[in-house]
Amino acid sequence: MAYEVGEKSQAWFERATRVIPGGVNSPARSFRAVGGDPPVVMARGMGPYFEDVDGRRYIDYLAAFGPLVLGHANSHVVQAIKDHVDEGTLWGTPAPKEIELAETLVASIEGLEQVRFTSTGTEAVMSAIRLARAFTGRPVVVKFEGAYHGHSDGMLVKAGSGASTVGTQDSLGVPWGVVKDVISLPYNDIAILEETLAKIGDQVACVLAEPIVGNMGIVPPKDGYLQQMKELTHKAGALLIFDEVITAYRFHYGSAASLLGVIPDLYALGKIIGGGLPAGAYGGRYDVMQYVSPLGGMFQAGTLAGNPLSSVAGLATLEVLQREDPYQRMAELAKILEENILEIAQEFDQPITINRVGSAFTVFFQENPVYDYTTAKMSDPVKFARFHRLMLERGIYLAPSRFEAWFVSAAHTRQEIDKTLEACRESFRELSRG
Ligand code: PMP
Repeated sequence: MAYEVGEKSQAWFERATRVIPGGVNSPARSFRAVGGDPPVVMARGMGPYFEDVDGRRYIDYLAAFGPLVLGHANSHVVQAIKDHVDEGTLWGTPAPKEIELAETLVASIEGLEQVRFTSTGTEAVMSAIRLARAFTGRPVVVKFEGAYHGHSDGMLVKAGSGASTVGTQDSLGVPWGVVKDVISLPYNDIAILEETLAKIGDQVACVLAEPIVGNMGIVPPKDGYLQQMKELTHKAGALLIFDEVITAYRFHYGSAASLLGVIPDLYALGKIIGGGLPAGAYGGRYDVMQYVSPLGGMFQAGTLAGNPLSSVAGLATLEVLQREDPYQRMAELAKILEENILEIAQEFDQPITINRVGSAFTVFFQENPVYDYTTAKMSDPVKFARFHRLMLERGIYLAPSRFEAWFVSAAHTRQEIDKTLEACRESFRELSRG
């Protein structure tokens, strides 16, 4: 029998669709790509678990799309928010907690000499790009196909047909004037970047990349790729921006850039640094940051930026990460999932590939290596949709897209991993029955 979400979820979602487009406040939450709505409507999160409005429990690998590296409602983070909320929720003035968080980020992210807070990752990337354009006096942004850098106009541009062709809109409402200054290239292909920069490098303000891609599924850089990217970018007189909205503090206490030994000129940050409350930030080289208003002529602002509660939640999260250093344990649990899922899939003759970095991995429903968007797209959408539903039925909550990661958090234990593997075994068995 086909799995159905609970009655209360259905009822809530029906109410949602009347007043919210598609019933969701971000399209990534919809179940349209995995066999259709309604999605599950959640009531609460506890550690590695979700509970929906019907009282059903799930082991959570969504981690709210990345921020919840400590799992849901970590007691230290919750207490820090409670302790601070009586002081007020927003002041519109400088305040100690945002300054402490800025100091913490600067102390732990290599190459982050100054930082400015925003409220979202979208704004962080958008502002870092404006800053690169301000600093270089050039218009063009080079980014990579299949990457997601938030929903600012310029970031909703997909690849054109060749190395130096500009892209096309990925969304209605993005004007040509924006599209013409954005180039999307295949990731992990240094020759195409070299060719592009050789042709139009003098117009390029920045090259923007996730150092470990999280948004076409997990896709790590090939050996030497980021180093060469940095050299070519600097040779062209452009700035290198790493979007570490997902990756910062996900793999160790700091940036993915330092793990990989390639430090960018600017970073965009978000997710984990807000501890589950709204936060983003951009920053990097001191000389570049001097262009930011009120010091310099690059304007960027935010009523909610540096929000005290977000700062407190971010600080508490980073404190726990630094003190408990859960990264190795998280990676070990993810490795157990990876190895066993591969084995189970093989047992049931289901071709898959898994890309894993530390505690984050993606199961692609195809057997070839995945190193860019073209290869990521080969993951079978129909199989993924079935697998997603089979896992949901067995109490495992995965992101409802074949291009997202499974995130293991510090709250997961061997017990959840074993239950997840049982669910995987049954789900792959079902898949193999056609
Ligand atoms: N950059 C990356 C790499 C992201 O994954 C995301 C969000 N998924 C963003 C930027 C945008 O962040 P936000 O949703 O907070 O605007």
